[in-house]
Amino acid sequence: MMPPSSTSTAMAPSSSSISSPAAAPAVAGEKPPLLELVNLWKRFGDGPAQVTAVSNVNLKIREGEFVCLVGPSGCGKSTLFNMVGGLLPADDDGSILMHGRPMADGALLGKVSFMPQRDLLFAWRNVVDNAILGLEVEGTPKAAARARALEMLPDFGLKGFEKHYPHQLSGGMRQRVALMRTFLFERDMILLDEPFGALDALTRAMMQRWLLDIWARYRRTVLFITHDIDEAIFLGDRVVVMTARPGTIKCDEVIELPRPRDAGIVTSPEFIDIKRRLLGAIEEEARKSFVSTTGGAG
Ligand code: ADP
Ligand code: MG
Repeated sequence: MMPPSSTSTAMAPSSSSISSPAAAPAVAGEKPPLLELVNLWKRFGDGPAQVTAVSNVNLKIREGEFVCLVGPSGCGKSTLFNMVGGLLPADDDGSILMHGRPMADGALLGKVSFMPQRDLLFAWRNVVDNAILGLEVEGTPKAAARARALEMLPDFGLKGFEKHYPHQLSGGMRQRVALMRTFLFERDMILLDEPFGALDALTRAMMQRWLLDIWARYRRTVLFITHDIDEAIFLGDRVVVMTARPGTIKCDEVIELPRPRDAGIVTSPEFIDIKRRLLGAIEEEARKSFVSTTGGAG
């Protein structure tokens, strides 16, 4: 399996209109973004069978930002996740920069703390020992790692469950253990791939609110991948929309909803307005790809 989260691996103008994804020119003396993706591509296979999963992705993420990347299933989100996590080399066309420095292949692994699409808890390890996996891989002595995990347990709603095994936990709790592992492994950025995708709607809504609380407390930079537009708007400082495969960035919108955000915000006129705009952009794209795959018939 892949080393679990272990591997360790902006705010633009006040108008919330959809802006072009093109990168703004760097201002002299301005701190470089934490992460910058420049012309990122990923193609699988060769010849006629080649699949372009990601094409020409440009994206900047500033320190402390919560950026949500939303796109339909199969559009290349996990492929992008794997490249940013350092698990998959990007094609030669582009580059990934951290703090303005280009990262060579392999150099990214360990720079980002990530949680893959499946929670990947070990059935034979209890809550605490699952949570400290990243620290252990890194060489932190077990006792010290456990002590840090125990301190974090209450924030993650797991106090009293330290000795429980994954099969004794609910789906939401298992996801919190995996998230705690990601937060324990302190890196500049946290990368989450559809962490709540498998949860029922009520649990998911609870987990979203909880994640915002945790984020406000720990103030990490987050890149959150999802196919759920409501989730993206509710959580993000920015929502970046990816098109259908080959996935590229269609629009990048600053979400100016006030924080802290409560559950009711999803029915506010501002929220619905943002959603309408983003859905419009996504539907336009879906129509295009539908027409191109059906040869225009239908
Ligand atoms: P998403 O996470 O948005 O659902 P993925 O990134 O998993 O999408 O996949 C994007 C596309 O790339 C899909 O068509 C998928 O079949 C293809 N793909 C992903 N990984 C590989 C691989 N290792 N080899 C070949 N094709 C792949
Ligand atoms: Mg995926």
